[in-house]
Amino acid sequence: MAPKNRDDNFMDVDSDSDISLLGDIDHRGKGKAKGKATDKRKKEKGKAKAKEQAYTWEASYTRSWDTVQEDEAGSLQGAVEDLMARGRRRRLLAPAAAIRRTIIRHLVLLLDLSAAMMDRDMRPTRFDLMLQYAREFVVEWFDQNPLGQIGVVGMRAGIGERIGEMSGNPQDVLKCLSDRTRLEPTGEPSLQNAIEMARSSMSHLPTHSSREILIIFGSLTTCDPGNIHDTLDACVKNKIRISVVALAAEMKITRDLCDKTGGQFGVAMNEGHFKDILFELVPPPAQRAVARAGGPGTNPAADLMMMGFPTRLPDSSPPSLCACHSDMKSEGFLCPRCMAKVCDVPTDCDICGLMIVSSPHLARSYHHLFPVKPYEAVTELREGGSEPVAACHACARIFSTSASTAAASEGISPWGRYRCPDCRNDFCTECDVFVHDVIHCCPGCGK
Ligand SMILES: [Zn+2]
Ligand SMILES: [Zn+2]
Ligand SMILES: [Zn+2]
Ligand SMILES: [Zn+2]
Repeated sequence: MAPKNRDDNFMDVDSDSDISLLGDIDHRGKGKAKGKATDKRKKEKGKAKAKEQAYTWEASYTRSWDTVQEDEAGSLQGAVEDLMARGRRRRLLAPAAAIRRTIIRHLVLLLDLSAAMMDRDMRPTRFDLMLQYAREFVVEWFDQNPLGQIGVVGMRAGIGERIGEMSGNPQDVLKCLSDRTRLEPTGEPSLQNAIEMARSSMSHLPTHSSREILIIFGSLTTCDPGNIHDTLDACVKNKIRISVVALAAEMKITRDLCDKTGGQFGVAMNEGHFKDILFELVPPPAQRAVARAGGPGTNPAADLMMMGFPTRLPDSSPPSLCACHSDMKSEGFLCPRCMAKVCDVPTDCDICGLMIVSSPHLARSYHHLFPVKPYEAVTELREGGSEPVAACHACARIFSTSASTAAASEGISPWGRYRCPDCRNDFCTECDVFVHDVIHCCPGCGK
């Protein structure tokens, strides 16, 4: 935007040297032809000033309050309901049938730490924004994938750099993302080196867990020691899924990485869109159909896997060494098979390799496999002649009896009632959102 304005100014100056003054006078910001037509010019100038932006940065600054519209009464209720309805419609679009998903996930977060990340096209810089969103992503990811593990690899100065080991503890991952000075961007990125490093850290993983690489890439170049297509082929062979969030533009190689490995590719258009496409990668990916002996279309046989539920040691127990860090401490968990002591669950036992999880972790991973069915918006109050229930089945709030006029779009009930397709109970707007986004279980039928 800024350069364009400057061009216009140049043009004005150029035309100024010709003597075609009359036509140009109104557009000129600073007075060159003073004394001529002063009064009229002043008025015009004032008008033009008000129209144009005071600073160029204001042009790119999106005002979040502009997107929210008040209704006639000055209330924001309609705008809020519209936002909720948008989420509801998105849920309705999701496939209803159970999808086979990988709930034990292993993800390597590959961060571009090259000099291109110091660009200020995203504020404050691409680098700072990436770190901030990466931290939020990690929190959300662990919340939804409690059985997952994340490792962090950086790419700068032409090499891949291990920043954080694969860990199931969100605090460990957040700690290695919090040290801004240690991650200072420099040099060229190398996709091949970094992917090879990520690949090697996942080579030992069992087949039932997913192997994923998420690349946040701000550069337009990569500086590789060999043929990156060999690396790509190796990733396909190892069933590693690569997703890329590009901050600059689409590159052929990044698109290929995603397409051939079954990952997602997106180019962030602005700060908000960056966050959106990053957070789309939080829910576990659907497992790719594996053609087995039964031929395509049949449900691939499930493999059983062994898991152990640990015994939690009380804080008052005598201190002993843990198997994972060799630290002396009293609290911890005992592996049910070899009785080794580990600091945190979920983890793989360092002694016998058994996967140790707590039952809440397992239960919380479950909702991805069997999501709560979306509630239907009630549009006909007296359906089948029966009297409608007076209050929300979950929170007992009394439903309004007059239909609101504002909410007329699809997926919104004018009475604020949403009905479970299984138990036929009615729920209010707030409960609908809470059930689907937080508790993942219908209070009416327990499904
Ligand atoms: Zn330990
Ligand atoms: Zn063990
Ligand atoms: Zn309610
Ligand atoms: Zn229900």
